[in-house]
Amino acid sequence: MKSEKKSKIRERGGGGMPSATPGLYLRLVVVWYVLFTAATALFCSLVVLPIRALHPLSVKGVLSAATIIVVMCGLYFVIEMLSLGRGRDFLPFISLAKRRALFRMLYPLCNILGRLFGRSQEAVSASLIALINQLTRIAARGRGEGGILVLLPRCVQNSKCTQRIAEDIAQCKRCGKCDIARVVEMMEKYRFRVAVVGGGELARKKVHELSPSFVIAVACERELLEGISAVSDVPVIGIPNRRPEGPCTNTVIDIDEFEKAVRLYSGER
Ligand code: SF4
Repeated sequence: MKSEKKSKIRERGGGGMPSATPGLYLRLVVVWYVLFTAATALFCSLVVLPIRALHPLSVKGVLSAATIIVVMCGLYFVIEMLSLGRGRDFLPFISLAKRRALFRMLYPLCNILGRLFGRSQEAVSASLIALINQLTRIAARGRGEGGILVLLPRCVQNSKCTQRIAEDIAQCKRCGKCDIARVVEMMEKYRFRVAVVGGGELARKKVHELSPSFVIAVACERELLEGISAVSDVPVIGIPNRRPEGPCTNTVIDIDEFEKAVRLYSGER
């Protein structure tokens, strides 16, 4: 009966935004850019131009700098969108960490814009994570010596299970009551390391301790965004968990997404 209920919840997708795409976040970035351009033009016409009689040269300098910034930002976003749309990296000379940081930097503003357009913070966060995942897929190269590290939250483990999987995931008896069993099966097949951690700070410590080449992290949207920012030097694919029983209890992994990420990093695209 219980497993029937769980499979129905899986079909519905439960809580979380598992099917998010980068589209929402990119649209918000475009709105941000239009507002930024309008604000810059307004600033130039109201503040800079009226004082040109006093300092004509410096006014010219400010106008040129403003134009260069607006054009460069626009150009950058157009090229980045082309990369994301075509699945090809047109900006290989800019590090993945910097590109991730730039989109992450716009998050507070995109979040405000999202709310004005009636989109929840969870939806905006999930779209940003999808965008960062897409960027990572096209811009992360090579297999690397450090291998793959999978970070899982403790809430994936069935709340009634007494196995001490946070100490050693091999203690899972694979009863199938939670997704840990599936992860252990894949761990044996693809040979990656797994750490079950409680919170972003422990996850960050694990990454620094184990020095992986790639990270696949499962968590709620908020923790994923914090974690991705904290490990700026490692490519991370974030998979938002599903929360059919509410936050932090018996959460569910999108196993298809998870396996896709593992295969990508394992060189089995
Ligand atoms: S699959 Fe593993 S971790 Fe999950 S309930 Fe069963 S023994 Fe516990």
